[in-house]
Amino acid sequence: MSGERILEVADLKKHFPIRGGLLGGTVGYVYAVDGVSFHIDKGETLSLVGESGCGKSTVGKSVLRLFSLTAGQVVLNGKRIDDMPTGSLRPIRRQIQVVFQDPFSSLNPRMKVRDILAEPIKNFGLAKDSKDLEERIGQLMDKVRLPRDAVNRWPHEFSGGQRQRICIARALAAEPDVIVCDEAVSALDVSVKAQIVNLLQDLQQELGLAMLFISHDLAIVEHMTHRVAVMYLGKIVEVAERRALFGGPRHPYTEALLSAVPVPEPGAARERIVLKGDVPSPIKPPPGCRFHTRCPYAFDRCRSEEPQLRDDGHGHFAACHLHDLPAAQNPLLNRATPTAFRTDASLGTA
Ligand code: SF4
Repeated sequence: MSGERILEVADLKKHFPIRGGLLGGTVGYVYAVDGVSFHIDKGETLSLVGESGCGKSTVGKSVLRLFSLTAGQVVLNGKRIDDMPTGSLRPIRRQIQVVFQDPFSSLNPRMKVRDILAEPIKNFGLAKDSKDLEERIGQLMDKVRLPRDAVNRWPHEFSGGQRQRICIARALAAEPDVIVCDEAVSALDVSVKAQIVNLLQDLQQELGLAMLFISHDLAIVEHMTHRVAVMYLGKIVEVAERRALFGGPRHPYTEALLSAVPVPEPGAARERIVLKGDVPSPIKPPPGCRFHTRCPYAFDRCRSEEPQLRDDGHGHFAACHLHDLPAAQNPLLNRATPTAFRTDASLGTA
């Protein structure tokens, strides 16, 4: 990683209005994203994790400017894009591309692969002439490790993993600086998942891409990310380097998420933390700490005062009042059974 800042998000909010009543006016809001900040450098992967409904995909769509924001700033390559009118977003669309979860619905079934890849190249005026266009298409197929002559085939002739490679090639065709992967491997079989993750990692190193990897799958995230941001009910509750977070989570929600991930070694012991209840509604988030209704360590202060994200002094941020207690009384620092995840991340398939 170069340390060159590519994407910076500050206090991002996206509140969806709820329409109702006789006149169809606004009767409330879904607080899908409620004050999220992060950054990604060139060549870096930041993973955004959390249960479904926590707001992570809304963050992805917000930075892609697929809708307008309620509040906050999004800065891409030093330029604010959150307040740009939709008509001015064309150059931005080239710089930030997306790979979605479902490779079946993401590709137009009536277009051959050649046309699918040619479209962004033509739209952004990247090819000098038709020979250059063909060469670029060929190079994209090489990059995603598909044979060049497969450009003459239709999407339905490919497997799920191959289709996701085409989606990645289409994203790369625009020569972006950032790729948002929104559950990009979640719909794939385990072995295919590993191949696509390895491909994304290789491409990132080769091209120096910044990547926002949105996923609920912590085993995948541990394999391929540099930093992790954990979201709960519209807010980031913990951010840290991969090893620091997986080795010693500083938020009870992260601790519970990690405890639910299967350990690859059959004999390895780890206490499973089962959270009570469901995620509360983002229409009416609980007061104080949003996690207090499910937190096994909640105490009085948690029900009235919202904890802020605070650094432990080593770049490991967590939003939890437990860190104001003396270390000896902080259960997160005195675990009987280590929550430590794994020391050697491997998905088993190259
Ligand atoms: Fe649990 Fe309180 Fe920490 Fe929230 S602030 S995570 S309720 S201990």
